Amino acid sequence: MFADAHVHLDRLKPKELELMLRLSQEANVEMLISVGIDLESSARAVSLAQSESRIWAAVGVHPWYARPLDQQAYHQLKKLATHPKVLFIGEVGLDLNRAPETLDVQITLLRQEIRLATEMGLPLNLHCRQAHAKLREVATEEGFTSLTGLIHGFDGDLAAMERCLELGLFVSFGRTLLNTGSEAEALVRRIPLDRLLLDTDSSVRSWRQNQNHPGRIAEIAQRVADLRGTSLAEIEQATYSNLCLLAERRKGPDH
Ligand SMILES: [Zn+2]
Repeated sequence: MFADAHVHLDRLKPKELELMLRLSQEANVEMLISVGIDLESSARAVSLAQSESRIWAAVGVHPWYARPLDQQAYHQLKKLATHPKVLFIGEVGLDLNRAPETLDVQITLLRQEIRLATEMGLPLNLHCRQAHAKLREVATEEGFTSLTGLIHGFDGDLAAMERCLELGLFVSFGRTLLNTGSEAEALVRRIPLDRLLLDTDSSVRSWRQNQNHPGRIAEIAQRVADLRGTSLAEIEQATYSNLCLLAERRKGPDH
């Protein structure tokens, strides 16, 4: 069985969702984490998770849409996070590539979301672009030497990957591996198997543009197996059980 650690299913039309779910089922993808990007999309991800057994949800505000959470928004997010099918706080993180001008606000938001994740006993589903050092800085300032969670669609260099591993994060690789010659190839060969995850980051846009869907996890897993000189079965088993392990971190609210 395969697991897709990071997808955005909540804006698909019902027919598109149906097709995407069928394709993922045919590819034996038994676990999909539908990740919210703001309050509204997080709420939709939760109701999707409620209606389909193979979907679980992550709730959070994406750094591209960063603004500090006021008390009401924080409580709304917290309420969503109490749903038993919410396994992560996400999509959260930092992006110095696409939105460097909002870094301060991104940091404020990320701090709030790390606090929420701690309060709820949930791991993080992180987005990080060219900001791995900053991520570590924020974690340290919040009093953490380690973070529980994953960093999706990893596109950093070796030093950045090592930083993430030192922080205790799982590292998820995505579609960049389907293009040969990417920097991720060398990283995939080096990452410890017990920290490896895969994600397609499927979304309404990538589905309509490139027919990207969670079933393509199997292709990414095959690439990883080839690069590591191992069997598809080994990658399938490891990435599925790694995501299950993170999912089991859901401890529920601490009060
Ligand atoms: Zn995403």
